[in-house]
Amino acid sequence: MTGIKIDGRAYAEGLRERISQAVKELPDQPALAVVLVGDDPASQVYVGSKAKFTVECGMRSLEHKLPADASEEDVVSLVRTLNADKDVDGILVQLPLPAGLNSDRVIEEIHPDKDVDGLTEASAGRLSLGKAGLRPCTPTGCVMLAKDQLGDLSGKHCVVLGRSILVGKPAALLFLEQNCTVTIAHSRTSNLEDICKSADILVAAVGRPQMVQAEWIKEGACVIDVGINRVPSLKRPGKTRLVGDVNYLPSKKIAGSITPVPGGVGPMTIACLLRNTVIAACSRRGWATPAVLDF
Ligand code: NDP
Repeated sequence: MTGIKIDGRAYAEGLRERISQAVKELPDQPALAVVLVGDDPASQVYVGSKAKFTVECGMRSLEHKLPADASEEDVVSLVRTLNADKDVDGILVQLPLPAGLNSDRVIEEIHPDKDVDGLTEASAGRLSLGKAGLRPCTPTGCVMLAKDQLGDLSGKHCVVLGRSILVGKPAALLFLEQNCTVTIAHSRTSNLEDICKSADILVAAVGRPQMVQAEWIKEGACVIDVGINRVPSLKRPGKTRLVGDVNYLPSKKIAGSITPVPGGVGPMTIACLLRNTVIAACSRRGWATPAVLDF
């Protein structure tokens, strides 16, 4: 048996099409403001992609660039201005911020109703309490892909490997919201292999290249690999390649379905950010949230 390769790129493309459709039906265009501080090349690429997809989906993209030597007060003041701007629906501060700036403090300044990354304490509290709010993007993408494969997730045992604030913890709460029985595993977990092997859905978010082996996977399980790790290329000396946290090829022979890296969870993050921008616009401006955004 060979598992199905879960095509996150195709799912993300379909989601962006649904978002475009939804935006066309809205009374006005939602707007996403992205704050970029400094000139980190990777951050510039991410911000560029976010802007491109925002516009492609029919929304307004507002880019705010601050120099690398901007003070924390400058960044906070910009975020406050965007909070007060009635034409801005979502605010994203591109991380990491340059050394010396306290990203926790800056993120906390974002109004929770515009927190399209779902990273503020208020958004985390709303998720934890099961209240409506903006959910973190990458973990939401994990749930969407699992649901697309398995349908109703009720009663499934979901093991989330990793407990970071960015991925592991919110992923666990989002799978709980789907009525899964959730186990969170981390670096101090005993019998990691056995726990992983009991998972119907295994979410790997450890940041350790190919740590999860085929022997750790239950036959037929749905494996969602969040990891993005750069390792030396085997074929091209001096070059690197991307691998996930799961040893993909042998695991695919055991799993029922599995996300590749790249092309699995990665593309979902921006698509979920765009979805959050529409949700934020609708809830802030009193419009009904379009049903095509449901999953
Ligand atoms: P963190 O480093 O913040 O967290 C890693 C987690 O894995 C921690 O909870 C840690 O446990 C746990 N862990 C580390 N080593 C082990 C081990 N040997 N056994 C068991 N648990 C272990 O990483 P992130 O959550 O931010 O990211 C995880 C991966 O996802 C990374 O590869 C990252 O690049 C990728 N990522 C991908 C995104 C995407 O868009 N696809 C977005 C965000 C992240 P403990 O808490 O005990 O230390």
